[in-house]
Amino acid sequence: MRRVDKLIWPTRSLITGEQIAGPGLIEPEHWSKIRFLSGPNCCRCGMPFEVLHEVADAFLDEECPACIARKPGFDRARSVFAYDDLTSQIVLRFKNGADRTGLKLLARWCAEYGAELVEEADVVMAVPLHVRRLRARGYNQSLWLAAAISRETNIPLEHHILKRLKNTPSQAGKSANGRRKNVEGAFQIGEKHNPFLTGKRVLLVDDVYTTGATVEACSRVLKRHGAANVDIVTLSRVVSPVDPTI
Ligand SMILES: [Zn+2]
Repeated sequence: MRRVDKLIWPTRSLITGEQIAGPGLIEPEHWSKIRFLSGPNCCRCGMPFEVLHEVADAFLDEECPACIARKPGFDRARSVFAYDDLTSQIVLRFKNGADRTGLKLLARWCAEYGAELVEEADVVMAVPLHVRRLRARGYNQSLWLAAAISRETNIPLEHHILKRLKNTPSQAGKSANGRRKNVEGAFQIGEKHNPFLTGKRVLLVDDVYTTGATVEACSRVLKRHGAANVDIVTLSRVVSPVDPTI
């Protein structure tokens, strides 16, 4: 049956969208170039530390200078791979192309790289889109990912109570500060939902972590309405000071 499936829906690369002859969803030559964020990282924001794995233990429970200087609004964040020219293809194919090839694999990676967060989560939520953008695009790719993570982990999904009230301009090209200002007051939760969030540990899902401004804005609202803890899981993360057009 699998062979018949493949004839009808041949496997396509998550990177190029081209048909792949061999097993897997990523060509071997691309696979080796993906920078998976499995090394030592900031215990809070997940920024990878540029240290050898042999000395990684010394960095357990350490925060990066950025988190020491300014504590993020969420508790912890983890991502699967670094955002670069190669992995941006996976994200953009998913985000702009509505291509759900490999969604299960991507969700499994998120659950794996965010394992310590998943273990303690009560509920999975996604960064919402404004209703106008949702209508224009037809789907919220972060919600697709959150739903797949929920299926993968059996943690219930909640996607009604966190709303994006402001249709904010794109975050692309803005400084970290500009990004924070841009999403200020953008998210809201109806008062009637207060009891649901009380004491809950939320796992908030997004596709890309750039400066953390968007997930921070969501986290603050969730905590203001009773969430005990908000952890972030994203597929991809900007780890160098570049300004990707996302
Ligand atoms: Zn940090």
